[in-house]
Amino acid sequence: MNILWFRRDLRLADNASVAAACQGAEPVFPCFVIDPWFYQHPEIGAARVRFLFESLAALDANLRSRGSQLYIFHGNTLEILQDLTHQLCDQGRSPTLYFNRDGQAIYGRDRDRAILKFYRELKLPVQLGLNTFIQTQGDRRETWHRDYYDYQHQPCHPAPERINTPALDLNLPQLTLAELYQQYSRFFNNSETLFCGGEPEAIATLDSFLQQRFWGYHWKLSRPWLAQQGATSHLSPHLMFGTISCRTVYQQAKARAQALDNPKATFALKAFRDRLRWHDSFTQRFHYHPELGEQNRFAEFDELYTPEPLDGQKLDWFIAWQQGLTGFPLVDASMRQLQQMGWLNFRMRAMCATFLTINCGISWHHGARHYMNCLVDGDVAIDHWQWQMQAGVTNPMSGNLRIYNPTKNLRDRDEDLQFVHDWLPELRGFTLDEVLQQVYWRESHYPLPMLDWAATRRVNGKRVSQLRDRVQARLRAEGGAELEEAIASHQVVKKYWQNSHQRYRDSQQQSDRAKVKSKNPRPLQCDTNNSAIVTSKSPN
Ligand SMILES: Cc1cc2nc3c(=O)[nH]c(=O)nc-3n(C[C@H](O)[C@H](O)[C@H](O)COP(=O)(O)OP(=O)(O)OC[C@H]3O[C@@H](n4cnc5c(N)ncnc54)[C@H](O)[C@@H]3O)c2cc1C
Repeated sequence: MNILWFRRDLRLADNASVAAACQGAEPVFPCFVIDPWFYQHPEIGAARVRFLFESLAALDANLRSRGSQLYIFHGNTLEILQDLTHQLCDQGRSPTLYFNRDGQAIYGRDRDRAILKFYRELKLPVQLGLNTFIQTQGDRRETWHRDYYDYQHQPCHPAPERINTPALDLNLPQLTLAELYQQYSRFFNNSETLFCGGEPEAIATLDSFLQQRFWGYHWKLSRPWLAQQGATSHLSPHLMFGTISCRTVYQQAKARAQALDNPKATFALKAFRDRLRWHDSFTQRFHYHPELGEQNRFAEFDELYTPEPLDGQKLDWFIAWQQGLTGFPLVDASMRQLQQMGWLNFRMRAMCATFLTINCGISWHHGARHYMNCLVDGDVAIDHWQWQMQAGVTNPMSGNLRIYNPTKNLRDRDEDLQFVHDWLPELRGFTLDEVLQQVYWRESHYPLPMLDWAATRRVNGKRVSQLRDRVQARLRAEGGAELEEAIASHQVVKKYWQNSHQRYRDSQQQSDRAKVKSKNPRPLQCDTNNSAIVTSKSPN
């Protein structure tokens, strides 16, 4: 009997464990464990729970269409799997456990270790697969790129056509989907949802992106209104719960670019595939450094960024930030979008993060937790590292500290106020100039800015820069592996943007040549991250 334990890989296609468990004649027992630990975790978010349950329902339907079903258990994962294994053994079945490795928080990592130990002690086999690419045989950064692309170019596993699952008599705490929804109804108070879970939905989302929505991806991705309308893929919750594999997305995006053979499409889809790689590289880092979910990457920052509870003005600012009442329209529109949709585009996530950490001087720990509570794609491996990046903790060898200016971004990224008007009804009817001149304050309930952006940036930005200098000085004084790693990380980022700009220039030239031929010139727009990377001397 093959126990097929689903985790963050809620799909049948290109799922290594599904393919391996279903390839022979052995009966297969697909299951998922609802472990109450996760639902009491301070970083749990309603949008994610909803998406997860939808994905489980879709997986169950998919399995049923192939002669199987999903068994949902409720309780401590280790105990459930131990009981299940014992009961199958008692019935004379010799179980093999199949599951996919993944980036895991410390709880999940300890649980997996305990399960492997339990199977070892019983001398029963365990088959481990990969949900998405990660190096599991030691941290080998030098070969990561090569290994990553080797994996992406391997053929995807097809979904099995039939799955043989016998009826079993088990004495375990089992839940139907209806019972599951009922038991966790506290997560279902928000009726609106933008993202729908499940493998068919993931495939449809990828299809619509690659058919049409991806055009102009590279410059639209920083514009919050266009991103909200679907200019980016919106695949993040699907990649987070594994309703589609990163490899499937990678291969289809690459095939689409090749089929179109158009410089704009090539550039846009390469920028998109680069982000898929970032996704896996964040997962990889977390695999070996789960402590970075809690700890500052460099201890020098412990004096500035701590998870200690907030009080006084900082608490007031934090609440205003959460509620979208800071008086900075683009920050507030973003925070309200996050609250309601559970999603934000990259630039707004980053801008709101620097606003909280640099301008409000509040630790990234608080912001990261709030994002996790709201995000439908909340993934601690990406979220917490991104927060550290935006807070200025990482990449100390770079002389640049990114600080996003919400007013400049309003002018540059939402000049017609479509995004701001959508989320801030208080400002509807006011033009950009009127908003910038704050003429609304007598007629609207919308607040005036709660802080002086330039002054807070100067004071707190200086403090962060000084800490970065201290990290750099220590690394240089100590030398060794840590210094080499810090230099290498800096070089990777620098080289990435240099290459990206070169690719952009090449694609623009090709596009211009094609336009001359067709006598219908239209300039290609570019919005690479470099326009967001600024030294602390030039506010963005
Ligand atoms: C402070 C902060 C917190 C973030 N937290 C998360 C998070 O919890 N979960 C999450 O998936 N992304 C997170 N991101 C990254 C990014 O904002 C989202 O992945 C992206 O906005 C999701 O939208 P999309 O699927 O339309 O992305 P697309 O632009 O279509 O990108 C395709 C996929 O690539 C990956 N990706 C895109 N950008 C990044 C990035 N900068 N770093 C790593 N992977 C990326 C995602 O899996 C995404 O689905 C965070 C960014 C910041 C600045």
